[in-house]
Amino acid sequence: MALDPPTMLTLSVALAAAASLYLAIEWRSIREPSLLFWSAGFATISIGSTLALLRISGLLLIGIWFANGLLVLAHWLFLMGVARFTQKRLSPAWYLVFAAWGALLLLPEGPWWSKVMMLANSLLVAVLTLRASLLLRPHGKSLSVGAGQLRYVLLAHGLFYLVKTLVAVVPGTLVNLAAFQGEIIQISLVEGTMAIMLIALSMTGTERHRREARIARLAARDPLTALYNRRALEVRAPRLLEGVSSSRPGALLLIDIDNFKGVNDLHGHAAGDRLLITLSEMIRTHLPEGALAARLGGDEFVILLSNASGERVMTLATALREQFQQAAAQAFTTPEAVTLSVGATLFDQPPASLAALIEQGDAALYDSKRGGRDSIRLVDRTFLNSVSC
Ligand code: GH3
Ligand code: MG
Repeated sequence: MALDPPTMLTLSVALAAAASLYLAIEWRSIREPSLLFWSAGFATISIGSTLALLRISGLLLIGIWFANGLLVLAHWLFLMGVARFTQKRLSPAWYLVFAAWGALLLLPEGPWWSKVMMLANSLLVAVLTLRASLLLRPHGKSLSVGAGQLRYVLLAHGLFYLVKTLVAVVPGTLVNLAAFQGEIIQISLVEGTMAIMLIALSMTGTERHRREARIARLAARDPLTALYNRRALEVRAPRLLEGVSSSRPGALLLIDIDNFKGVNDLHGHAAGDRLLITLSEMIRTHLPEGALAARLGGDEFVILLSNASGERVMTLATALREQFQQAAAQAFTTPEAVTLSVGATLFDQPPASLAALIEQGDAALYDSKRGGRDSIRLVDRTFLNSVSC
């Protein structure tokens, strides 16, 4: 089968329809509006390529102006999809693309008609695609693998259309859109089918990566406080613990609310939840750079510090204890004071495991509870002695 223009266009119709369907199915499970824009873009290409075949039958207005107009619309939809994906606002001036295309209807027929049509079409597609690629450039934080891929695929596609624009202005190049004559038109048909596949694949990858990252983020967080959960701490702790040495001691603080059940019993579970959120916000505010914090469960929280000292541990624990006591006393009246007990351990050797470290913290916390609560118990394992406050 020869890859003549009608065959290439038929291939584009099928590929674009498949891409449109695929992205629409993805949308059914992911529900990201960008997927709908992209799906609509490929559906438009599929219709446009079908109509482009009509130029063979002499229907030039539909087969060229209208069909190429749909190609511009498709790239406009791609740009809108990227804007939704990156949550960026686009200027309403982008609607002028359609006015520019409409103005081409006024172009008188003549030997230049095909060239001007190709020039305008290529320029509009190039500008829309390059803008979409530019929207995907990383801002401060790095792009996901999928979005990075889409960015480069769009960049290559946009640059191709820019070259096509330049070819159209070179005097003497053969461009006959009605008869698909001219080398650039042949190349363009091949590029078109390849671009459909690559763009559709990278669009799907873009959303998939984002969804997977979102799921991973959610799986790592405690739903009430948005602090890390125990599993996420277990994944992240080894890196911090490996860096522990006598010149950079580490510390673990195990924090438990005193008489928390009283808040639940007297003021309801929702009030208890609010207090847990208040404590998590305090922890987040006081957390030093490079430290980790997690909610282990119930009213128990943990902080892992690197480059710690007894003084730093006591300063942090005291600040939390005092602030929390004040906040709880202002919010609720309870028969027994709602305060914080902290069990902390300071170490200068990487521990056997996080679990072993938590066990040490637990022992210190138990001491603090047994000693009457509302206190900090620090076990300093760097000198094998113990200080309590
Ligand atoms: P202690 O002074 O010995 O620490 O006693 P306590 O009253 O603080 O109770 P304890 O730490 O033994 O148990 C924690 C309680 O926290 C048990 C449970 O009812 C409550 N709890 C656990 N998870 C949640 C939660 O997500 N929300 C609320 N509101 N309460 C919770
Ligand atoms: Mg408690």
